[in-house]
Amino acid sequence: MSAVKPVGRFAPTPSGRMHLGNVFSALLAWLSVRSRDGELVLRMEDLDTQRTSEEFARVLREDLLWLGLDWDRETPPQSQRTEVYDRYFDALKEQGLLYPCYCTRSQLHSVNAPHLSDGTYVYPGTCRSLTDAQRASFQRLPSWRVIVPDRVWHFSDLVQGDYALNLASECGDMVMRRADGVYVYQLAVTVDDGEAGVTEVVRGMDLLSSAPRQMYLQELFGFPHPVYAHVPMLLAEDGRRLSKRDRDLDLGVLRQRITPEKLIGTLAHAAGLLDKPEAVSPRELASVFDWNRVQRDSICLNTHSLI
Ligand code: GLU
Repeated sequence: MSAVKPVGRFAPTPSGRMHLGNVFSALLAWLSVRSRDGELVLRMEDLDTQRTSEEFARVLREDLLWLGLDWDRETPPQSQRTEVYDRYFDALKEQGLLYPCYCTRSQLHSVNAPHLSDGTYVYPGTCRSLTDAQRASFQRLPSWRVIVPDRVWHFSDLVQGDYALNLASECGDMVMRRADGVYVYQLAVTVDDGEAGVTEVVRGMDLLSSAPRQMYLQELFGFPHPVYAHVPMLLAEDGRRLSKRDRDLDLGVLRQRITPEKLIGTLAHAAGLLDKPEAVSPRELASVFDWNRVQRDSICLNTHSLI
């Protein structure tokens, strides 16, 4: 990473108690920045107001502090930033990069629609060239898509290595604002990271293909590209990905059974940062932190050792 003071971030979705995968990403984001005397920004990603709440956000902050993962500043939650996103959206519209899309969910997911091997749907540009008369005939509110160029986006991920994605053939024109007026994650995260001066994005591997999407938007909005580190997924013994559904492994349960140091030590060992799963504080780990030691493949965690 470059010599400028690093600015990292945690961007949790306050839709429930953190599970081990969330803690793992937060720990690595914290270590990457704290090992180089950088700054950490906290942001609540609560665009989905049905699933998120201020109470979950409060508990999340408390859980992070219990773990010893502090932050320097918290930026406003996404649900309060609609007017800011409006400005970026309008700028894209003025440049002629947006168009209204009237496709219904079932049209988008029809069997004829192209899908990538990971199940991602490639938007074929159905509504890109509609006439004004055709647009008027729909009589319903559209979502708005940004035109993506036929261009490959490359970057070198600190954990996953080289990654490339052609947005036109592997993603298609992206929704920026849904028909109900809610801005999408890709727009909000790009604006928020850019305005907060974030220089590095550390998060779960499941968001790897979001990086090129965000790099394109960073270019359109005039933000520099951050460095990316997409950390491996944590799996349960039976190979399932840990998620918020695994209630038995969320912090509400774990906090009653083990110390934060034991939890941090177990995760640091799983990451490849410690030879043994010994109890350790995030501060102690910061001195041995090195991205080169963090393994790339999904990690199967022996959860019985924790609970
Ligand atoms: N809010 C997302 C989550 O909790 C993370 C998004 C990001 O780090 O870019 O999974």
